[in-house]
Amino acid sequence: MDEFGLIRRFFTRPVRHAALGVGDDAALLEPVHGCQTVVSTDMLVEGVHFLASAEPHGLGHKALAVNLSDLAAMGALPRHALLGIALPALDEAWLSEFAGGFAGLAAHHAVDWVGGDTTRGPRNLCVTVLGEVPRGAALLRSGARPGDALWVSGAPGLAALGLAHLLDGVALGERSRDAALARLHRPEPRVALGLALRGVATACIDVSDGLAADLGHLLRASGAALAGRHEALPLGAELDWPALAAPLRAVLASDGSGVGETRLREALLAGGDDYELLFSAPAGSTLAVRAAAAAAATPVTCIGQVCGPARTHASAPAVVLIDGGQRETLAPRGYLHFG
Ligand code: ADP
Ligand code: MG
Repeated sequence: MDEFGLIRRFFTRPVRHAALGVGDDAALLEPVHGCQTVVSTDMLVEGVHFLASAEPHGLGHKALAVNLSDLAAMGALPRHALLGIALPALDEAWLSEFAGGFAGLAAHHAVDWVGGDTTRGPRNLCVTVLGEVPRGAALLRSGARPGDALWVSGAPGLAALGLAHLLDGVALGERSRDAALARLHRPEPRVALGLALRGVATACIDVSDGLAADLGHLLRASGAALAGRHEALPLGAELDWPALAAPLRAVLASDGSGVGETRLREALLAGGDDYELLFSAPAGSTLAVRAAAAAAATPVTCIGQVCGPARTHASAPAVVLIDGGQRETLAPRGYLHFG
């Protein structure tokens, strides 16, 4: 089988929205009137983002999932995907599994796999996704305002506990372990929640680098948007530690798993790979947020609030963890201590 046979056999799937998919020099898409196109690319490199031994079906799923997560964070409806892939050799069994994982998640979200590129080389995956959002309705990182409540979906920290289980042998009960490994290997992008949060959330980001780091990105973007182009207001956040930790503790409690506080903290604040949505919404919009979460059948937790410059006592974004009477400031780059 040559490269073209490979593309026909593994990478060519029926399309639903596109006028033309794989097979010509390029694909033809049909833009929806009144919508903006949302486009994003994420690259996964062997040895950096995944191991050579990674199970291929899960890898195909994850390569697309991390991209769809970016569209979810923008409140976009995913429509199309392209896959650039470099492979050291033509391994049919591997390709079949990989393509099955990719195409399976694409079908689940009615995403057309419309093209890509295939070359020989060290294994590398580069996925591009396109989605749509009504003009002006995209969720940006920059819309959070002092006083807004901060929310997160799911149980952030779960993927990091899965990794700790695999790498450091952290003991987990069966249910916790299954949940953690599922989140790590087969993350489910929060597409439905992103769509439901249009018009509700003021800012949104997906948690890929760790909650503290990604919260920092959201605060910086919002501070810059608030102050103007060349300076940023030092927005901060107060996080309610018991609320933030509750979803992860609930998973662990489901089978009596116990994890030390340091490990829990590291997973929650610095654990990447969760692909949950972290978003802000006006303080008075609790009912609207809960209705959106219910419509998307996705659990959400209010974890704190955005603070204005006057309350951060800092010239850069500061995140304060509040645990009962204790206040602990995470330095602007505090998450690096955990990273
Ligand atoms: P060209 O030589 O014109 O660049 P290619 O041989 O790269 O064409 O691709 C031929 C067709 O196969 C194109 O429609 C391209 O989008 C598609 N294709 C190539 N690689 C992939 C892939 N990994 N996934 C999906 N489609 C692919
Ligand atoms: Mg090409």
